[in-house]
Amino acid sequence: MKIGVVGLGYVGMVTALSFSSLGHDVVGVDVDQARVQALRNGKSPVYEPGAEDYLARTRAVFTSHYSELNGCELVFIAVGTPPLSDGSQNLAFLRSAVDSLRQSGYRGAVVPRSTVLPGTTKRVVAPYFEHVGYNPEFLAEGSAFRDFFNPDKIVLGYEDEHTLSLLREAYEKIQAPRLEMDLSTAELVKYANNAFLSLKVAYANEIGNISKNIGVDVYRVMDAVGLDRRIGREFLNAGIGFGGSCFPKDLSALIAFSREVGYEPVLLRAIYEQNAGQPYRLVSLLKTRYPTLQGLKVGVLGLAFKPNTDDVREGPSIKIVSKLLEEGAEVHAYDPRATENFRKVNPELSTRVRYHSSARECVQSSDAVLILTEWQEFSDSSLYDGKPVFEGRRIFGREGVGW
Ligand code: NAD
Repeated sequence: MKIGVVGLGYVGMVTALSFSSLGHDVVGVDVDQARVQALRNGKSPVYEPGAEDYLARTRAVFTSHYSELNGCELVFIAVGTPPLSDGSQNLAFLRSAVDSLRQSGYRGAVVPRSTVLPGTTKRVVAPYFEHVGYNPEFLAEGSAFRDFFNPDKIVLGYEDEHTLSLLREAYEKIQAPRLEMDLSTAELVKYANNAFLSLKVAYANEIGNISKNIGVDVYRVMDAVGLDRRIGREFLNAGIGFGGSCFPKDLSALIAFSREVGYEPVLLRAIYEQNAGQPYRLVSLLKTRYPTLQGLKVGVLGLAFKPNTDDVREGPSIKIVSKLLEEGAEVHAYDPRATENFRKVNPELSTRVRYHSSARECVQSSDAVLILTEWQEFSDSSLYDGKPVFEGRRIFGREGVGW
């Protein structure tokens, strides 16, 4: 089957390479020519384990010309849907992709994979194409290919049988429960899914904050709680809170949407608030040992919002580094992958940070060390050389935000 993918970021690149490796003919389109060129050269524009192996083997075609989508039966749209300042969704990229598809004369089925609020596919895409669907993506950065080939579920939103049969055919070789539903339901599944995961993290942090005040280790608590099959252990890891390009923005969008449709989402708001304060708890913890941070050399290990990604968007590292600098600390930082992105996202902040090319060098230049990302390489205890370590993410179970 000939499949198109518009937008070749995390989701689009993984979608294009994965469908191609399932034997489909894939054409991937992106307006960013440098990105297209990188993909053609076998270079992944984002750090994702396995991406370059798939790129080396793929028959997928990468282009910046929409005209090359003609002949595709099905086109997925995976452009960004970032938040606007009020937390609502910026649909400019989706609208522009739809316009370009129309102008290119494409007449096949169009299926957004981008995360969009209920009603969006119907309002923004359906007026222009006869066959429209919605297919949310549940992949996690860092395990994106594994998640694509072994999903917990495949959600197919559709209005017409033709689109549904194309979607079924595209996913034929993947074993997973298929849930077929109308467009708005499929769109809401994605938000409800992400908001629930955010809730679990915020909940673990809430219990962690209580635990800390009474000298209890929240991980022992959550290991027990998580054995309850009705709850499950995943996403109950307390720490400095969730970040990344999805949870914070999807939560804000759902809050804004909920208000628009006439419901004040008290619980969603609480998740947001709980998470917003969590990074600062690591700085407060540091201050229990060093009441004044003026001139203190603080080593920050990890800038990515989680390991195995170079994504720093909305990560706790930004808040923590800003706060440390504001309090007069000298910030030393190291991340195996995310330093470049951290510089790009925070150019101003970045000029005040001293970056190191190894964890050891960063630790050696510091009086105290904060662990912000649980990269595997940080679990080598010989790195720390007797320096005080404060964990924002659990590695050793030494002094941490909830333990
Ligand atoms: P991204 O920012 O990494 O990539 C988006 C890509 O779209 C960029 O390469 C950009 O150049 C391209 N683009 C923008 N406008 C275009 C246009 N008009 N035509 C062609 N290409 C265009 O985004 P992402 O992280 O892959 O996320 C995409 C969508 O998927 C978002 O809605 C996101 O919420 C959702 N999502 C992301 C993840 C994730 O882990 N990153 C997981 C599930 C769902």
